[in-house]
This record gives sequence, structure tokens and C-alpha cells, in this order.
Amino acid sequence: MDDCLFCRIIRGEIPSAKVYEDDRVYAFRDINPQAPVHVLVVPKAHYKNVSDCAGKDPGLTGYVFKACTDIARAEGLENGFRLTTNNGPDACQSVEHMHVHILGGAKLTDKMG
Ligand code: 5GP
Ligand code: ZN
Repeated sequence: MDDCLFCRIIRGEIPSAKVYEDDRVYAFRDINPQAPVHVLVVPKAHYKNVSDCAGKDPGLTGYVFKACTDIARAEGLENGFRLTTNNGPDACQSVEHMHVHILGGAKLTDKMG
């Protein structure tokens, strides 16, 4: 996807604060953090959201979530963290490349909507 923002970040065309990378996923700090720790974890392959990814490559979807838990541990979030993935317009998804938000580092609000 030539003009996808997160594909461009993965390719290094747009700078990002990398947290983790392997052959299947890339993780970087959100530019507008909503918690003391706010990391975005994306599959390197382009899928527009988690529904798209889960439908076409459920193994990769699971791999992304496993990577999230490993990164949360590496970030020191032993006391808890939240994984959020916005899927489509009603969820206010703003970047159409699947991504999971890792949020933590403080007590989060109990409101999720
Ligand atoms: P969404 O609203 O689609 O669930 O989340 C998109 C996220 O991407 C937002 O939290 C936003 O702050 C983040 N974001 C948008 N553009 C950039 C960017 O250029 N670099 C980084 N690191 N994060 C970005
Ligand atoms: Zn993309």
C-alpha cells in the first residue's frame, strides 16, 4: 500500500519511535499518547482493520496480540494494561491499517466507550 501511513512508517519513509520489530510485526510509540505508555502494534502486512486481518490471516491476528503482551511486559506494565483496536467508523478508526493500541503506565478510566 504505497500511500498508507502505517505502511510508510514500517518502511521507514516516515520516522517513528520504534519499540519492537520482527519479521511480522512493527511496534512504535503513538504520536499523541493517551496514557504514559501508548504503543501501536501493527502487522507488517497491510490489512485495513482487525476484521480484515482476522478474516484473511487469523494466525497473524493472534501473533499480533501475542506480540502486544510481550511488549507490555517489556514496557514494565506488570500492573495491567489495555489493548484497544478500533474497527471502522463507529469506533473512530482513523488509520486504515490494522493496529492495536497498548495503553498503560497509570490507572486507566473504567469508561471504554
Ligand atoms: P485509530 O484512531 O485509528 O485507532 O488510531 C490511530 C492512531 O495513530 C492515533 O492514536 C494517532 O495518534 C496515531 N498516529 C497518527 N499518525 C501518526 C504518526 O504519524 N505517527 C505515530 N507514531 N502515530 C500516529
Ligand atoms: Zn498499510
